[in-house]
Amino acid sequence: MRIGIVGAGQLGQMLGFAARDLGVQCCFLDPSLSPPAAECGDVLQRPFDDAQALAEMAASCDVVTYEFENVPVAALLEIEDDVPVYPPPEALRLAQDRLDEKQLFDRLDIPLPAYHAIESRQDLDAASTKLGTPMVVKTRRLGYDGKGQYVVRSSDDLGRAWETLGTQALIAEQWVPFDYEVSAIGVRAVDGDTRIYPLTRNVHEQGILRTSQSPVDDAKLVEVAGDYVRRLLTHLDYVGVLALELFVMDGRLLANEFAPRVHNSGHWTIEGARTSQFENHLRAVLDLPLGAADATGHAGMVNLIGTIPEAVRELGVGELHDYGKAPRPGRKLGHVTVVAGSAPERDRLVERIAQTVT
Ligand code: AMP
Repeated sequence: MRIGIVGAGQLGQMLGFAARDLGVQCCFLDPSLSPPAAECGDVLQRPFDDAQALAEMAASCDVVTYEFENVPVAALLEIEDDVPVYPPPEALRLAQDRLDEKQLFDRLDIPLPAYHAIESRQDLDAASTKLGTPMVVKTRRLGYDGKGQYVVRSSDDLGRAWETLGTQALIAEQWVPFDYEVSAIGVRAVDGDTRIYPLTRNVHEQGILRTSQSPVDDAKLVEVAGDYVRRLLTHLDYVGVLALELFVMDGRLLANEFAPRVHNSGHWTIEGARTSQFENHLRAVLDLPLGAADATGHAGMVNLIGTIPEAVRELGVGELHDYGKAPRPGRKLGHVTVVAGSAPERDRLVERIAQTVT
């Protein structure tokens, strides 16, 4: 079997390693020079929407998937008649626009922070009247890792927020003084079989994921988050892995966003789950039986951002994944995963690694 993967970054690399274990060949499409996934298969070094490269991929692969959220949906629709494309491009289209995404949560009765669509300076003022401050103004499209966001702390900030982001379609969200953040990751097969991974608790700094710990020991949250993911998977007639990010506030869950792809907060599943999110994504899109999503212990993950300090390598704690990327501030270069016998032991190890990283 041969799979086409649009994007050859670290998520593509981890999909590539899982594919190798399953005896599946990979063909990637990515314009970058020597991307992380290059060691796992052929790379068509062309733009993500290059019609000829996509047609070549469609002709030579059994299925096409993507590891990168800003793939032009129109490019995927072009090849859909020739090859199955999973997850469904409609899921990608909805995830690419924060307004469409929030309206989807509303339709599925998944609670979320209050929001207001913004197309003019007047809309921005109306948003601040409706939502109060602080509020977060975000670009509707192409934001990631906290980019394209402006926190309006008081009405004095409105002018600056407009100057910074006003050339694009925007959305304002109520500021959520959350207790913590979680992500719920699910996988759905072509025949509808669905598995939900243990709930993961995440810490972000400046919009970038720093650490993940799983499982979260709260039966009620686990049940409700799992139900929300199932609603999305079923509604979208989804195939593959989907991650839903949520805020936890006073024991309630509020949806932030979903990603129609394997997710950074699920990296711990490589060592810490019976079947990794990467293997299960491949199993789903290749129409193979899904593997169990149970945890094998108490897992923690620390992202290595901007640099991989020598001290982390020397620490010798956990499994270090080095994506082989050139260092750059804010860039995800690798991660370390630990799997412990108890939650306190896991948390102690995560703390130790996180301190070494900073
Ligand atoms: P996002 O790109 O929307 O996932 O935002 C990145 C991170 O910024 C989130 O994981 C939160 O830590 C924080 N954030 C985003 N939106 C809000 C909000 N409405 N209230 C509080 N924090 C937020």
